[in-house]
This record gives sequence, structure tokens and C-alpha cells, in this order.
Amino acid sequence: MIDLLLVGGGHAHLGILRRIRMKAVDYNVTLISASTYQYYSGMFSGFTEGLYSEQEIRINLAELCEQAGVQFVEDTIVKIDAANRKLVGATGKVYDFKLVSFDIGSSIGDIDGSMKQIKIKPNFVFPKEIHSFRETAFPVVVGGGAAGVEMALSVQAWRLNNGFKPNVTVISSSPLLSSVSEKASSKIMKIVKQKGIVVFDQDEIKETSRQQLITKSGKRIACSELLPLTGPKASSLFTNSLLPQDENGFLLVESTLQVKDFPCVFGAGDCVSIQNNPQLPKNGVYAVRQEPVLWGNINLYLTGKPLKSFVPQKKFLSILSVGQQEGLFTYGDNAFYGKWAWRLKHSIDVKFMGKHK
Ligand SMILES: Cc1cc2nc3c(=O)[nH]c(=O)nc-3n(C[C@H](O)[C@H](O)[C@H](O)COP(=O)(O)OP(=O)(O)OC[C@H]3O[C@@H](n4cnc5c(N)ncnc54)[C@H](O)[C@@H]3O)c2cc1C
Repeated sequence: MIDLLLVGGGHAHLGILRRIRMKAVDYNVTLISASTYQYYSGMFSGFTEGLYSEQEIRINLAELCEQAGVQFVEDTIVKIDAANRKLVGATGKVYDFKLVSFDIGSSIGDIDGSMKQIKIKPNFVFPKEIHSFRETAFPVVVGGGAAGVEMALSVQAWRLNNGFKPNVTVISSSPLLSSVSEKASSKIMKIVKQKGIVVFDQDEIKETSRQQLITKSGKRIACSELLPLTGPKASSLFTNSLLPQDENGFLLVESTLQVKDFPCVFGAGDCVSIQNNPQLPKNGVYAVRQEPVLWGNINLYLTGKPLKSFVPQKKFLSILSVGQQEGLFTYGDNAFYGKWAWRLKHSIDVKFMGKHK
């Protein structure tokens, strides 16, 4: 029987592993994750542009667990039997637990049609998939949020440096970065134009054929591969369980990150929706911020004490890499652009990775 079972090597669970590495606990802990490696999405852009190696953007979960005295199992959980406190892995193994915490992230939705599509989630498939997309004749990114914009700009930067035609296209149903702020949106429009990216915003794909997309407004766009980055989609794992979910299939948790009526189940990161805060953006920043509350509450629950609530900060700092070692820094409604922003991002990301080596 596993006392504490951590499912997924996401941001919140990485923090828990670091804590256990610093101070051992008197109960047994197991981490099950779909891959031995956790790839850090904050450095996807730098890897795509050719600034970081694969080794630099990934964390070896087996090594980190060994240092923490935690058992590591590489498996993908495919079934949850919360009532009987059992999980089933793709390997067929059954895991009995006293307490479980999910931090399995999210996936990305498909675009209808026969066009070749690149999937960069779960994160361990990213390096292999992005190689093909970087070199394709007509790369098209779908999605004008932070991830879509960052990937489009880093593919464009790589193509410029490697003798490929810099012809990345972005299609977005809303103005780029409109969910961040008006300032960020107008700044990024100038940056993408200056970097030669063609943008079709406030438009959507209506039809796809082998080499062409047709948008709702009637535009015909050459496309050999599509990279959909249209926002997080829930794992089917929860849909097929008795655990409560929100209307999009994300695991529904209380502000304590505990599941109502299933007190032995906790969750954090992209895979959860918080009952009293359903609009909370899904990003690594919030997954990291949830970790101290998750860890605190797991231990409070184990000792029979009342749990504490996760209170998210209203604003968060974000730095997008926009290619050529330049960055767009945003905080609340403010947006600033420059080489200093990329250097700051680089130092934050390298420091984060260094904590796990
Ligand atoms: C291109 C791109 C760039 C981004 N850049 C940033 C950024 O700069 N800053 C930021 O804050 N956010 C960024 N994001 C968003 C960020 O990637 C996610 O919000 C973040 O990774 C969520 O963290 P998480 O802890 O929920 O899960 P993840 O980091 O996705 O980790 C989930 C883990 O669970 C494992 N797993 C999945 N399913 C199972 C299963 N069934 N069984 C066992 N293990 C499983 C996976 O292998 C993985 O180890 C970016 C996203 C993309 C696509």
C-alpha cells in the first residue's frame, strides 16, 4: 500500500519532491509519471530556436526521486477507482494508495480535418515533434495565446538562422495575446509583423485539405503542417472516473485542492479546476504557486488538522521569448519589450531547472 501516491511529474509535484529531498517524511511516497523525463515548457521556445539542448530543458524524475527517497514508476495512469483507492496503469499494474495527488497537466485539442498536426503535449513528446514542424515547407500555428505566439516566433527565428524560408503563419480567433492585455496585444502585433510572421487574427479554420487551409472569412492559406495551440484540454482520465469534474472535464477541487466527497484525492496544476475560481488561468506559474498549499494540506490531512485555502495572486509576471534573444515582459496591464526581458527569462528558467539537477 502506498501512503502518498503522486501522479504526474508536473510543476507542483516537482516542488514536493524537492521538499522531501530536503527533509524526509515518515511515510512512503511513490511518483508515477508517463515518462522518466519532465520537459519544462518555459524553455520550449529556446529549444525550438536552437538555444538550449534537450538535456538542458528536461528533468530526470527517476534521479530526483532517488535523491528524495521516493519510489519512481514510469507508467501512465489510465483508470481511477477512487472509492477503492486503486489506480490502474497502462502497463496493467494496479496501485493501492491511502492518499493520491494528481498533477498530470493538460493536452491540446485537435483541429478537424486531414492535415498533418503536431502534438507537443504531453511534454515529453515535444522535442521530437517540433523538429519536424520547424522544417516543414509551410508551418501554420493555430492559437494566438502566449504558447501559440511564442512557438510561432521561435520557429520563425530558427528558420531564419538555418536557411529555411521564414514563412510561419498564425491563425487566431481573437487578437494575439488579447487575454493578457491591450498593451501586450498591440506590442506583439508589431513584433510579429517586424519578424515577418503572417497573422490571420479574428478568423478560424473552416476546411483543411492536404496542402491548404480555408478560413471562415474565405482566406486560402498554404499549410504543410499545423501546430494547434488552442488552449488546455482535460485528460480523459477523469471523465472515465467517478471523481467530480467541471463542464470541460477538469478534476474539480475545493480551494484546499482536495476533492469534495473524496478526501483522499488532491490535485493541482492544469488538470484541476478550482470550485470557487474556475477562471484561473492554466499555466506553470499557478501550478508552482499551488504547491505549498498542496503539500501543506496533504500533511494537515494526514495529521487530522483543518486544511488551508489556495488564494491565487491576481497578477502574474510572464516573459515571452520572441526570437533572437528578445523578450516581451508582461505584468498585469503592463508590457515591455527588449533583450533584457529575454535575459531575465533565461536566468529565471535556468535557476528553476538548476533546483532539480
Ligand atoms: C509552448 C508552451 C509554452 C509554455 N510556456 C509557459 C511559460 O513560459 N510559463 C508558464 O507558466 N506556462 C507555460 N506554458 C503552460 C504550461 O506548460 C502548463 O500550464 C504547465 O506545464 C502545467 O503544469 P502542470 O504541473 O499542470 O503539468 P505538466 O507540466 O504538463 O506535467 C504533467 C506531468 O504529468 C505526466 N502525465 C500526464 N498524464 C499522465 C498520466 N495519465 N499518468 C501519469 N503521468 C501523467 C506528464 O508526463 C508530465 O510529467 C506553456 C505551454 C506551452 C504549450
